[in-house]
Amino acid sequence: MSIFYRSTRDNSLSYTASEAILQGLSKEGGLFVPSEIPTLSHSLKEFADMSYKEVAYYVMKDYLSDFTEEELKGCIDRAYDEKFDTEEIAPVKAANGAYFLELYHGKTIAFKDMALSILPHLMITSAKKQGENKTIVILTATSGDTGKAALAGFADVPGTKIVVFYPKDGVSPLQERQMATQTGNNVKVIGIRGNFDEAQTGVKNMFADKALLERMEKNNFRFSSANSINIGRLVPQVVYYVFAYSRLLKTGAIKEGDPINITVPTGNFGNILAAYFAKLMGLPVNKLICASNSNKVLFDFFETGVYDKKRDFVLTMSPSMDILISSNLERLIFMATGNDDEMNRKLMSALSEKGQYEITEDMKNYLSDFVGGYTGEEETASIINKIYKNEGYLIDTHTAVAANVYEGYVAGTGDKTPTVIASTASPFKFTRSVCEAIGVDAEGHDDMALADILSQTAKIKLPMAIEELKSAKVLHDTVCDIDEMTSEVEKFLGV
Ligand SMILES: *Cc1c(COP(=O)(O)O)cnc(C)c1O
Repeated sequence: MSIFYRSTRDNSLSYTASEAILQGLSKEGGLFVPSEIPTLSHSLKEFADMSYKEVAYYVMKDYLSDFTEEELKGCIDRAYDEKFDTEEIAPVKAANGAYFLELYHGKTIAFKDMALSILPHLMITSAKKQGENKTIVILTATSGDTGKAALAGFADVPGTKIVVFYPKDGVSPLQERQMATQTGNNVKVIGIRGNFDEAQTGVKNMFADKALLERMEKNNFRFSSANSINIGRLVPQVVYYVFAYSRLLKTGAIKEGDPINITVPTGNFGNILAAYFAKLMGLPVNKLICASNSNKVLFDFFETGVYDKKRDFVLTMSPSMDILISSNLERLIFMATGNDDEMNRKLMSALSEKGQYEITEDMKNYLSDFVGGYTGEEETASIINKIYKNEGYLIDTHTAVAANVYEGYVAGTGDKTPTVIASTASPFKFTRSVCEAIGVDAEGHDDMALADILSQTAKIKLPMAIEELKSAKVLHDTVCDIDEMTSEVEKFLGV
């Protein structure tokens, strides 16, 4: 099978997987979508006997049809190794009437590691395939989490360099410490005197700075980005849904062919879209339950068919889901139009010009596999408390949003289909909120001390990622103004 990638805003463009991975975003602003969705290469029973790496290979190979078997297996081997603290990579745990798919056993104890540990390898392989011999320079602005996951993924990967900008006063002390202690001879971390939006605008401006790009070119560098719209992040996320099903089958929780539901705590819509791709590949999935926090733009969209970003932005205890523009939703919208690039383009310009768009009845019908739900702050805390008190199982605030939406869904529908909940972060990543939720007094303790307290209280071993932070040396302390971002990058690259 030979799959190519086209843009959601211009159907006439067509790229191979390696071209799409290197390019990230299509030049007119569209997202890359596969020309067709491959079907699962093996029976579900056969997947049950495979390791995570084997499942990864068979799920990804048709999406990346210009990669050789050796190339793709090489990428997978280098990604899913001892960086993860469990050989299973993504264990499934039964609790509270559902199955929690733990996607947080990587370097930064959150699910973005699942894709960001393989993306650098997919990128350098793509560059080689394209005969590109330039060093890839990743520029990223982060509000805290993605930056660290990208740093960890790209650190010491030959042929790459990475620069991460974060708002100096806009991330948690723990997040800052995670980034400031990042090792690797190809990494640079810079705090900026400004907020996240300013950091992001600064990065966008560099991508469009002709003089800078010329100097880069002369010195054999090429910019790229690691953000979540890259298909090199989407495709690796399909893997763990097939893997989760195969583990339920292996343990006898379901029989071959039994349908499951999948509940995903959602922000940019990347993770749940991957679950939908798994369904389209033939995985027996009944409902895809999209869980939002108080920024419930997606819930309203699935209820009404109107996507409306004109609303107050709420800061919640699940910050990685505090998002009003879910960029990956554009891929689903494009598919719901019947791959109509012109119609999708109109909807997306309505969003940027008027702040909203409305889909047709036909499109609404296309989306009937999706159910939206949302969880407020109090309910987020109380479900963490309830599951911990009843079953001794501890979940983080993002996962809690999903767990609570799922409970509401079952109460409202009586649907007893076995359900996988994507568990997107370790409870040790959002220690303060988790401590408060289970009634541990957090006041007066810093995040590192709280991690120890939580570990002792809940009798859970401190994750490697937190343990290492205790003794890690601070290696980055550069701080700059917004208008110095470019010169900092030039200094780092020596251009
Ligand atoms: C990024 C993130 C999410 C949201 O995932 P999307 O793919 O953006 O929908 C949920 N939980 C955690 C912990 C995250 O880091």
